[in-house]
Formats: sequence, structure tokens, C-alpha cells
Amino acid sequence: MSAEAAKGNVARKGGMDSPMKILILGGTAEARQLAERLVALGHDVTTSLAGRTSRPIRPAGALRMGGFGGVAGLAAYLRAHNIGRLVDATHPFAGLISRNAVAAAQEAGIPLLRYMRPAWEQPPGADWLTVETAHEAASVLPPEAHVLLTTGHAGLAAFMQRDDCHFTVRLIEPPETALPAFATLLLQRPPYGLADEIELMQRERIDHLVSKNSGGEQTAAKLEAARQLGIKIIMIARPAYGPALEVSSVDAAIEALTS
Ligand code: NAP
Repeated sequence: MSAEAAKGNVARKGGMDSPMKILILGGTAEARQLAERLVALGHDVTTSLAGRTSRPIRPAGALRMGGFGGVAGLAAYLRAHNIGRLVDATHPFAGLISRNAVAAAQEAGIPLLRYMRPAWEQPPGADWLTVETAHEAASVLPPEAHVLLTTGHAGLAAFMQRDDCHFTVRLIEPPETALPAFATLLLQRPPYGLADEIELMQRERIDHLVSKNSGGEQTAAKLEAARQLGIKIIMIARPAYGPALEVSSVDAAIEALTS
């Protein structure tokens, strides 16, 4: 569907005068901002979380937790709860739920709006190598590399095969299985500041940073720190999500939903 056709579709069911029943697929700060603003506008908003984090920040409006059971489960939920709008505000690397949202919205016959924060772009003077997958990122690391690994739990196993490298693995929640001796666990929660990122990279003698192209401000300081220190960045590109009306700011999402 073209963006214009999709916009028409989104606008079809009425504006701010008629409260909408909206399901937000969340798990991001922007999803919480959207929920807060839509609730303040008087809409009936439910946020859905996968249930990955043990103590999630509660969004405004209603909250449901856990998977739906694939496309069929999500479509059934949309119908059963009479949802009028589906908003995919998941993380750019939550590719499966984003693809499911496209198919389920189509199956349930409701418009889908996707909020996706802009991707990071390589600044002049930065040493980036873009790869498609965590496996590819793990395979391009040279032997003896000192790696700051910031790609989360998914794909961790691929890096832990590289016992010829040393990893500083930064995670928000501990991994399910203990890390091997050549990896150091760092439990931290964003936002991260530039001075701290530089100090960390120097202390751990980092020469490679592996990152997903998540975009956003909260974790961007590592890129500038790596650029300043001449550290090579292995950047994992975003997955494909499928067609939907897509916006890249919370303001644009509110506008698309309510105009
Ligand atoms: P994913 O691989 O795209 O999804 C895997 C499965 O998790 C989906 O098929 C779905 O299960 C369930 N799921 C995912 N998001 C859901 C949601 N918002 N509500 C209900 N079920 C959901 O997703 P992921 O990468 O594991 O991410 C899970 C959640 O963490 C997302 O909500 C995302 O916004 C958040 N998050 C992810 C990352 C990341 O780097 N991937 C970073 C920060 C936050 P069913 O098929 O059973 O419906």
C-alpha cells in the first residue's frame, strides 16, 4: 500500500472528536509518549508489551503483556477488543512483531500506523562497516579484537563462539546463561553519556564497537565516543518490516492518527 493510500486509510475512522480504540505495540520510550498523549486527547489506549523486562515502566492507559500467538492471535485480539487503530511503536529491531502487525491489521481490516525512529547515519570521519546480521558481525571481527558488544540478548550466542576475541557485553538484564571467561558482563541502563562512554572504551581497551542501528538519542553517545577514539564500528542494519504508513516522530504519529 502506498503511504498516501495508507494515510487515507488511517484517517478514515474519524478525528479527535470521536474517541478511538487504539492498540499500541510498545516496548519503547516513544510508545509511552504516544500512549500518554493519546490518553490525554481522550482516546481509549491499550499498550502491549512482550514481557521481556521484569519491571517495565507503566504506560498511560491500559496495559497487556505477553505474545499474541503470531499473526492469527494478534488479528483475533484486534477483532475481539474492537480495536480501531493499530500502532506499531516497537523497537526498530523487533522485526517479527512488526511484520506480524502488517499481516494482522490487514486480516482484521484496520489501519496500521508504524512509528519508527530515524536510523543513525555515518558521520564524516567515523569508521563504520554495515552488516546484515549478528552472525555476519561476529564473523568480521579480527582475532584478538577487544569488543564492546551492545546488541542485546538476541544474537549473543554468535559472538560467544569467538573465543579468540575479548568482549565487554553491555546488557540491561543478565543473560540466561553465564558468559564465558573471555567476556565481561556490564549491566547498565541507558541513557549513556559521552564522557562515560569514552572512559569505558579506554578502560576496556576497546578497538571494535558492535551496535544495532537502533537510532535515537539514549544510546547514541557510544558512536561519537568511538569516532573520537578511532574505534571501528560494526553496525547491524535494520530488518525489513513490510508496508505500512510510517512516521518518524511522535508528533507525526499523533497528526496521522487524529487529523
Ligand atoms: P520480535 O522478535 O519482533 O518479536 C518476537 C515475539 O515477541 C513476537 O512474535 C510476539 O509474540 C512477541 N512480541 C514482541 N513485541 C511484542 C509486543 N509489544 N506485545 C506483545 N507481544 C510482543 O521482538 P523482540 O525483538 O523480542 O522485542 C520484544 C519487545 O521488546 C518489543 O516490544 C520491542 O519493542 C522491545 N524492545 C526490543 C529491542 C530489540 O533490540 N529487539 C530493544 C528494546 C525494546 P507473538 O508472535 O506470540 O505475538
